[in-house]
Amino acid sequence: MKNTTISDDCAVDIRAVRKAYGAGESAFVALDNATVSVRENEFFTLLGPSGCGKTTLLRMIAGFDYPTSGEILLNGSDITSLPPFQRPVNTVFQNYALFPHMTVAENVAFGLEALGKPRTEVKARVAEMLRLVQLEHLAGRRTNQMSGGQQQRVALARALAPQPKVLLLDEPLSALDYKLRKEMQSELKRLQYETGITFIFVTHDQEEALTMSDRIAVMSAGRILQIGTPREIYNRPADRFVASFIGETNFLTGALHGVANGKAKVTLKSGQSVVVNAASDAPASGDVTFIVRPEHASVVEGSGDLRGIVEKVVYFGTHTHLHLRLSGGEAFTVRQQNGSVSGSAVEAGQAVAVAIAEGAAQVVRA
Ligand code: ADP
Ligand code: MG
Repeated sequence: MKNTTISDDCAVDIRAVRKAYGAGESAFVALDNATVSVRENEFFTLLGPSGCGKTTLLRMIAGFDYPTSGEILLNGSDITSLPPFQRPVNTVFQNYALFPHMTVAENVAFGLEALGKPRTEVKARVAEMLRLVQLEHLAGRRTNQMSGGQQQRVALARALAPQPKVLLLDEPLSALDYKLRKEMQSELKRLQYETGITFIFVTHDQEEALTMSDRIAVMSAGRILQIGTPREIYNRPADRFVASFIGETNFLTGALHGVANGKAKVTLKSGQSVVVNAASDAPASGDVTFIVRPEHASVVEGSGDLRGIVEKVVYFGTHTHLHLRLSGGEAFTVRQQNGSVSGSAVEAGQAVAVAIAEGAAQVVRA
């Protein structure tokens, strides 16, 4: 077993892939100009709401479907039009798609036998895979007599057995209950680490994507909006959709005056100014939208960056949300961590000043 680190080598290169279903006027574009390079040994996640094109993209990487235009390369070779069995790629489906009349061992052996591997090799490999997913004791059981979590492990063992270069996982955890899902999340990370196989994982769950991935591609309506590490996606969302889909956030608008060294000053309706991060290609002036995460704002003594009135205090146990109305009329939420049991001193009706953490305000595409 290898556990190599992520290299710069590209495992899967998706170049300007477009997929249209149907033709002419009634054509539906499920994927539009998708370009992304997944690195060797990476845990890469496609994140987006239902219907945004995640499965469509996976199916084309697997070879179950073909792009209308664009190319897919695997380790530098063009595989765009190869049939599935000629690609060193395997898929774990949401519903597992196990053979119910076969035992666990027979399910895992299936792909190896289809490849014509010698019996002794198949036997050894099945044993190794069942050890990897901790199911040796259930080798002889039929898969329709197993729990959801156990079936998930069989599906993983079966997909990993032929040693694919890339494993595609299409919402593999969405059928599991919360606790099992958490367990399988760390199990998947372990399997990826121990096998050194590139994983392309699909989920619509932003927390799952943030906690598991090396990098994430955020998708909406057939387009990839941003690609980055979990921290980049969360702290530096490029786009309004990305900012609102991942985590909670405050959106504010104001007039921007010139960008220098990636920073700019934005003046709000109230006349107060906030220093924001802005790309050099941001409009040099005019109205912009920027975000501030609730945990990057705090109620302070003195002047702060913003002023407002507390309208509502909502207690969550670990933290408290203060819902404010800013002096310019905008709604704004501050998240206070409850580090002691004495509770928040802030009450509804109170006028407060709000400070924004250094570097936390970020201009987004509206
Ligand atoms: P996701 O996996 O992100 O939920 P899909 O990739 O399954 O989304 O689907 C993307 C869009 O393409 C959806 O609107 C879906 O209805 C449409 N679609 C998927 N497959 C087909 C098909 N065979 N014919 C027509 N439309 C399709
Ligand atoms: Mg899907």
